[in-house]
Amino acid sequence: MAKTLVYVAHDNLNRNKGALAGARPETHAIVFVESQRVLNGARWNRQRLFFLLSAARHFAEELKDEGFEVTYLKDKDTASGIQSISKNYEEVISVEPSSYRLSKSLSDIGVRFIPNDFFLTPRALFEQWSKSQKSLKMENFYRWQRQRLGILISNGEPVGGRWNYDDENREPPPKSEYRWPTYPSHERDSIDEEVISELSNLNLSGALDEAVWGTSRKAALAQLKSFLKKSFKDFGPFEDAMTVKSWSLHHSLLSPYLNNGLLTPDEVIREALKEFDKGNIPLASCEGFIRQIIGWREYINGLYWIFGENYRESNFLESKNPLLPLFENSQSTKMKCVSETISGVEKRGWVHHIPRLMILSNLAALCDVSPVELLVWMRNNFIDAADWVMVPNVIGMSMHADGGRMSTKPYIAGGAYISRMSDYCGDCAYNPKTRIEDDSCPFTTLYWHYLHRNRDRFKKNHRMFQQLNGMKKLKDIDETIKRGDFLIEGLLAGEI
Ligand SMILES: Cc1cc2nc3c(=O)[nH]c(=O)nc-3n(C[C@H](O)[C@H](O)[C@H](O)COP(=O)(O)OP(=O)(O)OC[C@H]3O[C@@H](n4cnc5c(N)ncnc54)[C@H](O)[C@@H]3O)c2cc1C
Repeated sequence: MAKTLVYVAHDNLNRNKGALAGARPETHAIVFVESQRVLNGARWNRQRLFFLLSAARHFAEELKDEGFEVTYLKDKDTASGIQSISKNYEEVISVEPSSYRLSKSLSDIGVRFIPNDFFLTPRALFEQWSKSQKSLKMENFYRWQRQRLGILISNGEPVGGRWNYDDENREPPPKSEYRWPTYPSHERDSIDEEVISELSNLNLSGALDEAVWGTSRKAALAQLKSFLKKSFKDFGPFEDAMTVKSWSLHHSLLSPYLNNGLLTPDEVIREALKEFDKGNIPLASCEGFIRQIIGWREYINGLYWIFGENYRESNFLESKNPLLPLFENSQSTKMKCVSETISGVEKRGWVHHIPRLMILSNLAALCDVSPVELLVWMRNNFIDAADWVMVPNVIGMSMHADGGRMSTKPYIAGGAYISRMSDYCGDCAYNPKTRIEDDSCPFTTLYWHYLHRNRDRFKKNHRMFQQLNGMKKLKDIDETIKRGDFLIEGLLAGEI
């Protein structure tokens, strides 16, 4: 009898999940497809493409070693690749894809889907939760998850008596000498080298000098172990801090592995709780980390599926500007925080959530950049990008393009926030404290410009009342708007 063909997407690299969970070499064959449409369809960050391709090729080798018949194809697109061999098999199966686009192209060619268990919350369950809510607050979802999964719960109550330690977890970087943790550098093997050599023929951004991303399950486990030993303890306090002294601070660097299947959320949580149970980890750090995995990550995935395919086109603020040229060249701006952040993306395809939100997206929002332009740039450049995670984070959370379906108020800030949470401003060419001087920080000026130009859109939003009121009291609002216009023009021309 013909075997069943399992299609393994580049984010399903796990033997124990999805369509591979029940597969055996005697009854199943495997196919991977490197879609040339995807590969050549964008100017990807080199780290991102290297990681995705090399991790898939490593995983394909592991499956071959286990005795599976594995076909690794390069074809014009995924569906064509599968169709080129599917007639030799009984049927084709795959885990439910993580994007609308792939779901459609695979179902169009008759692939049968296995429920997606790469997340802790099935899509239907999230939908059920969302229907029981008046508003879709992450905090409420997170508490529901803690109860449902029995994580950091004792007798139905949160361990330690509180659900949330955010107020302890918002420290700026220490002013005095501080030793930031280091992370493993991953040795490259012949598969990695082969991918690197192939990539040299493509038009890509970024650089591969730093071997910060491993491409196998073994490397992903090494990353997890390193985080738990060296960084977990102080994960909480410095979660939102930014510093020139450490690119990774205490962050876990686990998102690429969680998103391509080399690690799963259940095992990450299990190992984190084991470490906490040994008594080495403060509750605020443990809770802060657990919140990211069972809260934010699951919430974002759930929203992606309930908001629907057209959500990405939302543009509540009618922002139409193109992406600023500085996004393509970290050295082209004198804004230290922006230059440092873009440089991090160029080198590693990664910066943590605050530079993504409060530097890159904040700048794009303040400059009235089209949300989709930012979405595409981020998708092309971040090591951990995927449709399900980028769309709600960019369209909803960071650009407020959905008019508040996800976050009731936009995440925007002036230079004072950046100055408080980082050490970028000390030797920057701009001054975060002023708004109408020649050297005023563009974030500060543009923050008021944003509030002013959107004042009618936000007038009924009670959470924006204080900010709008502050803007109304500015005596120099006309000069601020004038300088804001000048800054947007200069930033769009690549001159600031
Ligand atoms: C504008 C914007 C774009 C983002 N794009 C992505 C993306 O493409 N891919 C991605 O995985 N994350 C994205 N995030 C979320 C977050 O920035 C990254 O998950 C995190 O920086 C990854 O680094 P880490 O593994 O060290 O995370 P840690 O700070 O160590 O957090 C642990 C884990 O929590 C999860 N997590 C935390 N916040 C989120 C979130 N908002 N959405 C989804 N998962 C979350 C991640 O899996 C992460 O690995 C984005 C956030 C913003 C504001």
